[in-house]
Amino acid sequence: MPGNLTMDALRAAVTAGEIDTVLACQVDMQGRLMGKRIQAEFFVDSAYEETHSCNYLQATDMEMDTVDGYKSTSWATGYGDYTMKPDLSTLRLAPWLEGTALVLCDVLDHHTHKDVPHSPRAVLKKQVARLAEKGLKPFMASELEFFLFKESFEEAVEGGYRTLSPISAYNEDYHIFQTTKEESVMRAIRRGLQGAGIPVENTKGEADAGQEEVNVRYSDALDMADNHSIIKNACKEIAWAKGRALTFLAKWSTQAAGSSCHIHQSLWTEAGDPAFRDPDGTYGMSDTMRHYLAGLLTHADEITWFLAPYINSYKRFKAGTFAPTKAIWSLDNRTAGYRVVGDGTKAVRVECRVGGSDLNPYLAYAALLAAGQAGIEQKLELEPEFTGDAYMADKARHVPGTLRAATEALDNSAMLRAAMGDEVIDHYVRAAAWEQEAHDYHVTDWEVNRGFERA
Ligand code: ADP
Repeated sequence: MPGNLTMDALRAAVTAGEIDTVLACQVDMQGRLMGKRIQAEFFVDSAYEETHSCNYLQATDMEMDTVDGYKSTSWATGYGDYTMKPDLSTLRLAPWLEGTALVLCDVLDHHTHKDVPHSPRAVLKKQVARLAEKGLKPFMASELEFFLFKESFEEAVEGGYRTLSPISAYNEDYHIFQTTKEESVMRAIRRGLQGAGIPVENTKGEADAGQEEVNVRYSDALDMADNHSIIKNACKEIAWAKGRALTFLAKWSTQAAGSSCHIHQSLWTEAGDPAFRDPDGTYGMSDTMRHYLAGLLTHADEITWFLAPYINSYKRFKAGTFAPTKAIWSLDNRTAGYRVVGDGTKAVRVECRVGGSDLNPYLAYAALLAAGQAGIEQKLELEPEFTGDAYMADKARHVPGTLRAATEALDNSAMLRAAMGDEVIDHYVRAAAWEQEAHDYHVTDWEVNRGFERA
């Protein structure tokens, strides 16, 4: 099981007074944990079967605003309930919080008890099930980057997010000495995640002052998406407890590097053999892998919104920053949107470098798997490899540069509509359009600074 706590073990821990709180969480459109802190006695007595939440949780924006235009929920339909059904295989300790366990819940229709189709776990499960019909199982890994600051979250708010000092004074990519100075937070993150049943590979300094990366072991797609959401929440809680702020914004400052979420992906057979591997193929890639990669490239525009869902996400795509601007494939080439790694080995795989650290992992994985599957189903031919500096390749396929362009490609995607359903795509097109509307409405610091005196 992906969690590390059985119901029997939880019952024993509750009786022994070791656990008093169970966090029952659903994942919202932003990929965040939302839910209730349930008294452990009540959880083991009855709430382990189900609990409830307002159905607006799958339609609010970053600020929890009630946004109009959704078919699934509205003031007109009275914002009723969804059922939150704990997936007990995800039950785990949250050792960075005193006496606390955590469980993820599926979001179900209150009356029919069927999956709410646009809830992120349901969106991903659908693509995993489609692959299972082909005898294939997806394995993924998210490499999560963030910035760590000297200030606390409270100080960050008080300073209007303008007085922040990154934890280090210099680019700390792979630095041991600088990261030694950050161990009070980063070691606690590694130990906390490991203690929650998330196998940590490493943390490291990243390519700017205060930038960090967490790497955990790849896993099946649903487990990895669950881990991804728990990791982000845990990192924030652990940093908060240590009096530090951190951010998963894709681009927190104009000058600083962006934060990515590279997504490694491979398909395996039910028997546990690597379906992406063919020792005789170029770089050890099988036909299945070539078709999958061709699907990712063919549908690169259409899936971009799921990899870059906010206005801010598009500020990250800048030449010469390690964030890609071109949706092309290349072997072990960090200027490519889609980088082939593990060539010639069992672990031959695709690393999608397009996504930012602000993406929702369930939706991003689902979109990638839908595009890859379309490639497999249609046996799409893989284009020739790009070599060299992709930033300089003007004629190469561009990653859409704006939220508007990505939203349009999402809305017009026959592939995604067939794979996920119109209801799901219309829901997320509304979320994307709202992000644009909210941004268009607000006057930004940049405009005021630029024009206040000089306009
Ligand atoms: P990098 O040099 O890009 O950091 P790593 O070798 O450290 O690459 O691996 C990055 C991630 O890829 C890790 O989280 C690892 O668990 C994951 N990974 C390894 N093999 C596979 C695979 N076959 N499928 C998906 N992810 C994998």
